This record gives sequence, C-alpha cells and structure tokens, in this order.
Amino acid sequence: MNALHTSVHHSAVFDHPEMGEHENIVFVQDKETGLSAIIAVHDTTLGPALGGCRVWPYENPADALTDALRLSRGMTYKNSLAGLDLGGGKAVIMADPRKEKSVEMMEAFGRHVERLSGTYITAEDVGVSPDDMEAVARHTDHVRGTSATGLGDPSPYTALGVFEGIKASAHHVFGSADLAGKTVSVQGLGHVGFDVARQLHDAGAKLIVSDIHAPAVLRAIEDFRATAVDPAEAHMVSADIFVPCALGAGLNARTIPQIQARIVAGAANNQLQTPADGVALRKRGILYAPDYAINAGGVISIALATPGGSDTLVREKTLAIGDTLSTIFERAAREETTPEQVADTMAEERLALSL
Ligand code: NAD
Repeated sequence: MNALHTSVHHSAVFDHPEMGEHENIVFVQDKETGLSAIIAVHDTTLGPALGGCRVWPYENPADALTDALRLSRGMTYKNSLAGLDLGGGKAVIMADPRKEKSVEMMEAFGRHVERLSGTYITAEDVGVSPDDMEAVARHTDHVRGTSATGLGDPSPYTALGVFEGIKASAHHVFGSADLAGKTVSVQGLGHVGFDVARQLHDAGAKLIVSDIHAPAVLRAIEDFRATAVDPAEAHMVSADIFVPCALGAGLNARTIPQIQARIVAGAANNQLQTPADGVALRKRGILYAPDYAINAGGVISIALATPGGSDTLVREKTLAIGDTLSTIFERAAREETTPEQVADTMAEERLALSL
C-alpha cells in the first residue's frame, strides 16, 4: 500500500481534525501478507486501551485514519462511563473482509499488537470473525473475547444492559419502570434486538417489530405475538418507546419530527446523525438514552470475562447501566442539557479524577 506514504503525510496526521488527545498512532505494513492497518491509542489514563479491530475496504488511508481516530476516542468515553479500568483504542485493517482478509494477515496483525506491549488490547469488530481473533491470539495475549479468554458472544450482555436502560428510561419519563402494557417498537431483530424483544415481552410490553430479514420478523410474531411494520416506519408508529437495534444514523432531521414515542433507547451504535439531532430530540420532549451508555454490556463482558470464570461481575456491571442512565437523565434535566452531553461530561470527569 504505497498510497499510505503519499496521501497521509506528516502534517496531515498531526493537523487531522479528529487528532484530539490521541497518545499513539501506529501505521502498520506487512508486505508479505498485504496487511495495512492503523492502530490508534487514544487514552490510557484508566488502563490499557481496549477497542475492537475492524476490517473494512476503505477508499483510501485517510478515511481509515479518520475512522481509527474517531472510534478510538469513542472507546475512551465508552469504557470510562461503563466504569471499566480501561482506556480507549481501536484498530482498522484496510482490506475487504470477504476477498482480501487471510489467516496470515490476521496473524501479522497479532504480531503488531504484541509489539505494543499491552498498551492496546484488541477484540472483534465489523469484518472480524472468532476464527480471525484466534489467529491474532496465536501471536499476542493482548486479545479479549476469544473462546479462551471470554464468555463468548457479547450480544446477550448488550441486550441485558439495553433492557435495564429501557427500564431506567421508563422510570424517568413515566414514573415507573414497569413495562407491562407499554407499546414498544423494536427496529432490528438481530443478535441484540431479538433478545431485547424477548425481555420486553416477558415484562408484559406490547411489541411492534421490524427487520429487513423476514424470518426474524415471523419468529417475533410467533414467539411474542408482535405486530410487524415496515422497517422504514418503525420510528413513526404509535408507541411509548422506540428501540433502535439495527443501523446507526437513524435519528436525523427527517425522522425526528415523525417520532411518536416519548423514549428512544436501543442498542444501535451512532444513532444520532449529528449532535444537533440530540438537541432536536430534547426540544421535542423525547428522552434519548445515549447509545454508548446503554449498549456497553458487550464491551463490559469482553473486558471483564476471565477464562473459565463466572459472569457474576459482568452481570453486575451491566445491570449498573440502568443506574448510570438514571444519573445521566437527572443531571441532564437539572443542567437543562442533553443526556449525551452529560454522558460525555461524566466520562471526562472520571478521567480527570484518575489523572
Ligand atoms: P445483527 O447484525 O445481529 O442484527 C442487526 C439486525 O438488523 C439484522 O437482523 C438485520 O437484518 C437488521 N437490519 C439491518 N438493516 C435494517 C433496517 N434498515 N431496518 C430494520 N432492520 C434492519 O447486529 P447486532 O449484534 O444485533 O447489533 C445491532 C446493533 O447494536 C448494531 O448497531 C451494533 O453496532 C450495535 N451493538 C451491538 C453490540 C453487540 O454486542 N452485538 C454491542 C454494542 C452495539
């Protein structure tokens, strides 16, 4: 990847708009396996920087750098707010996960993670499979979430945290965390969304469900007596709570005026298209549970699982997501600001205390 040398020159890195307070950025090349990667360590104040490895066919190295810088900063905030003694980092591998990724490439990546002596700890992200992480783990111990180190699939813990977050949101808005009789629209019935729907059903909620994958919708209709809607209409149905568990950027200038629910609380990453969308939700009197706060159960399970150990501590920290959100909502009301602004401030305060 010679383009690395030509399009990301020295000043483009240090002047980068997302550069922020990043501690360390490593550009990795391995000619033999075709590995081109960027490992960004944003902040290690609270501990080693934990963040997944993403394999994605970036158009150019500049886009990969932007992604690595943004995502690693996001992990600092997520880990801090989740109460983990871990900093924030992220790795991006510039490759098409279907056509260019190989065992050798992932092994080479593992050797480079090892070189960072534990200041960066890697895990699965988009485009990376459990087998890929096993390949990485052959060359470094600084990996979490493999079958040897973890509890397996983090989705059930993400779903558990989201359910707690929905209850905390309901308590703030309706004065009770009881979901019996509440109508909830769940968008996306994948690993997390289906599990959240199950918990909502068990709690007595009436479900409206949507997914582009028809079999998942049919299963929800059968298992939960849910009503199905077109995924494009999930946010605008008559419901008390909207739970986005599909893709990001679903909350934007087009969709926000159409939302009928009083609460938006779901697992999807990067739900707000822009910060202005969070302000727009607040203006409409809709409570928004900041995505990185409510969906932290997965990273908690990856961070705290011990080989062969029980999941007691993981469950405890994941259940605490409800309390964290209650604190965020109360403070946002008091300070007349948005919950996501308070979440950022609380993450920064914990960092400042540890300095
Ligand atoms: P998944 O791929 O298992 O499920 C996503 C589901 O959304 C699929 O069933 C898919 O068909 C559906 N979908 C895709 N586009 C849609 C659309 N336009 N409308 C309706 N449905 C659509 O993913 P997941 O692991 O369940 O994750 C869901 C969301 O939660 C993602 O945004 C993910 O980044 C986020 N998240 C997941 C975890 C985790 O532990 N899995 C942790 C944190 C955040």
